[in-house]
Amino acid sequence: MFRLFIVFFLHVSLLFAANNSEILKRADKLTKSPSKTKIFRAYNDYKNVYSRSVMHSNLDERKSALHGIIISGKKLHIDVEKYQKELSSLKKSSKKRKKTALKMKNIKKTSSSKKIKVIHYTSLKQARWDDGTLILDFDRKLLKTDVNYFKLIDKKRSSFRYIFDIHAVKNKNIKLRHTKLKSIRISQYKHNIVRLVFESKRKLNLRFKLEGKHLYIFLHLGSSAPLESQAKYKLKTKAKKRVVVIDPGHGGKDNGATGYKNCREKNIVLQVAQAVTKQLRKRGITVYLTRTQDKFIKLRNRTKYANKKKADIFISIHANSVPKKNALKAKGLETYFLSRSRSSRATRVAAVENSKEIEDMNYFGKNNLLNFMNREKIIASNKLAIDMQKGMLSSLRKHYKDVKDNGVREGPFWVLVGAQMPAVLLEIGFVSNPIEASRMLTKKYQKYLAKGIAEGIERYFIKNP
Ligand SMILES: [Zn+2]
Repeated sequence: MFRLFIVFFLHVSLLFAANNSEILKRADKLTKSPSKTKIFRAYNDYKNVYSRSVMHSNLDERKSALHGIIISGKKLHIDVEKYQKELSSLKKSSKKRKKTALKMKNIKKTSSSKKIKVIHYTSLKQARWDDGTLILDFDRKLLKTDVNYFKLIDKKRSSFRYIFDIHAVKNKNIKLRHTKLKSIRISQYKHNIVRLVFESKRKLNLRFKLEGKHLYIFLHLGSSAPLESQAKYKLKTKAKKRVVVIDPGHGGKDNGATGYKNCREKNIVLQVAQAVTKQLRKRGITVYLTRTQDKFIKLRNRTKYANKKKADIFISIHANSVPKKNALKAKGLETYFLSRSRSSRATRVAAVENSKEIEDMNYFGKNNLLNFMNREKIIASNKLAIDMQKGMLSSLRKHYKDVKDNGVREGPFWVLVGAQMPAVLLEIGFVSNPIEASRMLTKKYQKYLAKGIAEGIERYFIKNP
């Protein structure tokens, strides 16, 4: 069940008008001010620049923004430890790189031989296809900062180029082709940068993911088989162990919604979460619950827990409710994912659980977190939401024909903010509706619902390896 809070989007859109270096300059000035409000504005600005610099892989801006977040954050007594860690690791990795570059220079100067063995750089070992996914294997772990991805699009000439600059060297010729692409080029663009270019006549829905020593590039080119002139590699990965964090909403002093015959949301969602856990474990999926008892847990600690467990997905389970006069009308299930949407349908968007915590936060804090979302994650959460909604409906409708589909919806939901993985919130029915409330209390309904949720999760994992 949700309560509303208002989101101030105006501030956000104004910010996008200025460029990052202007914003940084302004924020630097504001940080020096004695006014807390101004420092907060600076803190917010730094965070905006930070999220955009991450999106655009701009390392210098990212460092400046982190520096600003730390200084202004400290003045405001905000915990900035994770930013400090990130900044120091960025500094270390760039130092390392400089050192290596220097070493290389010296080798060049002193070596009489023209052939220089590059041993300090990350090396690209091979590129291989797995269906429509191109996988690049490196000899060591890649960092986010090692990969710079950008697009060059000229719609008039129907030329779409998708470019990856990767801090690495390649020591053999890799040739790649695909029937649905004009070309794929992979070259040593600079002495320490491998450039990979996909050229297409049509717009591509390209996504990528870094995982350890591998860069996965999802090209979504349909079913036609890719061609490769390299040796044929067949992917033989062991089924990856998946981790899911299930979050039964509310708990303890927070009852959530109270419905028909005084049934409580917090109890129903805990029972459903436990049934889901059983179903997922049967399927070999690792599951953690944010609570297994009737205990109060702060919202931010719920996603924090999921981050700590390195969950692949986060699912918060809730039940809906409306005032008595509409109790018979309002029914059905819906799935929410987090987005910055302002669509009219998402007026509830601004909706959140436990508004007590939200009231404590000031305006800048709220905006910030909403700006923090990255596009990839929104898309993934949207897909997850679709699979969840489908899963629940198809399982339940086998036994309860009248279950209503309220669809997949979006909005900036507080409980999902902060999750580093795709995250959705399920509203499994209305506790205010006598029929739905009675059903939700039965083991039978809980089981089929849990089955549907588990099937949705499974489907999502299959489609998004
Ligand atoms: Zn709730």
